[in-house]
Amino acid sequence: MREIQDESSRVLEKSNSAAADTVGEIDALLGLIESQKDLLLRGTVDVPTALSTLQTAVKASEEAVHATHKGLAAAVLTLSQAVERISGPERSDDALTALDSGETRALLHLVAQQLYHEGYMEIADTLVERTSLSFDSFLRGQYVAMHSLAHSIRSPTRDVTPVLQWCDSAVQETTAGASPPSGASLEGTILREGMLDALRTLKFRLHFLQCVRLMMEGSRDSAVQYVRNFLTPLARTKELYRDVQRLTTSLVYASTQGSGEVEAAFPCTTPYPWTSPDGLDALWAAATDLFLECWCRRYGLPRRAPLQVCVDAGYHVLPALRKYNELRRRTPEMFLQLPSMPLELTYQSWLTCPVTQQQATEGDGPNPAMMLPCAHVISHNALRSLLRPGTRGTLKCPYCPTECEISNCIKLYA
Ligand SMILES: [Zn+2]
Repeated sequence: MREIQDESSRVLEKSNSAAADTVGEIDALLGLIESQKDLLLRGTVDVPTALSTLQTAVKASEEAVHATHKGLAAAVLTLSQAVERISGPERSDDALTALDSGETRALLHLVAQQLYHEGYMEIADTLVERTSLSFDSFLRGQYVAMHSLAHSIRSPTRDVTPVLQWCDSAVQETTAGASPPSGASLEGTILREGMLDALRTLKFRLHFLQCVRLMMEGSRDSAVQYVRNFLTPLARTKELYRDVQRLTTSLVYASTQGSGEVEAAFPCTTPYPWTSPDGLDALWAAATDLFLECWCRRYGLPRRAPLQVCVDAGYHVLPALRKYNELRRRTPEMFLQLPSMPLELTYQSWLTCPVTQQQATEGDGPNPAMMLPCAHVISHNALRSLLRPGTRGTLKCPYCPTECEISNCIKLYA
């Protein structure tokens, strides 16, 4: 740093003296021009002599100014070399390693997790290595496995087998309640049922796309067999069953068109998404998303990487806050007159159960508030008492005719 200070003061000195010298030269030239003008007017000198005197003087001045600026340029070069010596080569890799304050490490960790989450393994590995981050190898392994399975259904061959195999084993493990010691609790049941629901839907979607492929390849008999063996048993909800019906309709329609190309059997105006390449791609993308969601849920990974959540939250919240601040700065009187928020919009951190008249507990307490799919809220104890005996967790909402599955009830945190 000392060297840079010295060099920069030298540059400053040179620059000042160069400026002063240049001004001096110009003044001298102006004086000479004036004197030659006087001599000409008095007639003591002729025009060619005066012009040649001036020319010689201008040339000499030019050389003098040039020399002073050369000295300045040399000083600037020395300064830039000194700066480069200090901040140059050492800055690249080691500078990152040197950043070891807590916040920086936390931020780097978030960036690495984001990259693993998005499947940029090599970049993430390089970041971890160069910054000597300690990234959980188990977590990394889970991301690697997730993306390698996702790749099998994303790649042009669309191989669904590995994901289906994973799905089967996940269903088995979840059914056996292998994971949670909390398996017996209501919350455990809800989580498990939700997980099973998602896994079964994923299986259905993958088999569905496999069946569409068989149909498009022209093997109608295999497609019909496939529907019978795999799709119908998996169609648990009205929505899934409707998809099976539509697919069967497509198959029947295709078979009435003789042995021609199956694609030709579908008019472009068909409402079914799987009959156009774009629609089919969208279905594959949706199935891949569902797989990623199931995987993250199964292994407790966040569905969206934390950094992404922060960025999204900032993206939505910051403009509103800035606008609010701007308004408050410009029109403070308006904010003084604003009425307070209506009661129904303010956040209530407590609930008295309308069924049991008990106070719901906050945080991880034993009797939390539970929201049913119809959006009615009752306490956990009331929910338990309303469960139909002999069913796998169904109940009727005490306030409306909705039939609810326990897996669709959500715990509300106060
Ligand atoms: Zn209800």
